[in-house]
Amino acid sequence: MNMRKGKVWLIGAGPGDLELLTLKAVRALGEADVLLMDELVNPLILRFTKPECRLISVGKRGGCRSTPQAFIEGKLKQLALQGFTVARVKGGDPFVFGRGGEELRALQEAGIAVEVVNGITAGIGVPAAVGIPVTDREFSRGVTFITAHEAATDSIQWQALVKSGMTLVFYMGLTNLRAIAEGLLQAGCPADKPTAVIQNGTLPNQRLVIDGLGAIVQAVKKAEIKSPALVVVGEVVRCAQVEKMSDKQPNVEQDSFRRQA
Ligand code: SAH
Repeated sequence: MNMRKGKVWLIGAGPGDLELLTLKAVRALGEADVLLMDELVNPLILRFTKPECRLISVGKRGGCRSTPQAFIEGKLKQLALQGFTVARVKGGDPFVFGRGGEELRALQEAGIAVEVVNGITAGIGVPAAVGIPVTDREFSRGVTFITAHEAATDSIQWQALVKSGMTLVFYMGLTNLRAIAEGLLQAGCPADKPTAVIQNGTLPNQRLVIDGLGAIVQAVKKAEIKSPALVVVGEVVRCAQVEKMSDKQPNVEQDSFRRQA
């Protein structure tokens, strides 16, 4: 029986581009005996693990149910108590809409050593990939990150968001895009407020749609934008480097990118 207690690294892998990993993440991956990986993580990170490192995928795909959180936390505890060094890798930053806090608390309560490695959160990295700064002295003095998960319910204070004048960045906003647009418009946001929707930001198959808030639902539908996508509302969207979007093309890059892993 191995009496050495293991450890968990809670790692953010950034928005997708492999080169946006931190040096610390690369070091932690290299130490790991087991890797628990979420769906949005670039599988190419596997090149930084030891050959014998075991991989456990815990993400949901194509509308399938995700691995229950209790199972993930139980697995992390179990592996660490068996003496393994565990890398728990999430997309973006583990503490931004990533349940990192929950996992940290569960591990700490079990007396397990845990270290957090920040990643570049999609809310900053993805707009940056198309030239949008989330704050800018000319356009916006602040930014608010919002999960759009419950946008269709009345849990979001639309009026407060509009009144703040800040850049609004919605995660998980695609399925609720209509509710976001309606919520903001009804709260007094002008229909021509620049709005960007970015799919697969920082990756070779990145796509960008820009329109006024009042027209964004139609524009996104027409362009057949899919998840993962980020929604940015605010004057900073004017900074975007807009390339002409060609008609829908097969995701060649994404396919080859997956195969290499
Ligand atoms: N912890 C992550 C967020 C997880 S929530 C982070 O800090 O980035 C997942 C949401 O993030 C997606 O629904 C999408 O809105 C956004 N997202 C993540 N990666 C993205 C990417 N490459 N392009 C666009 N949006 C992305």
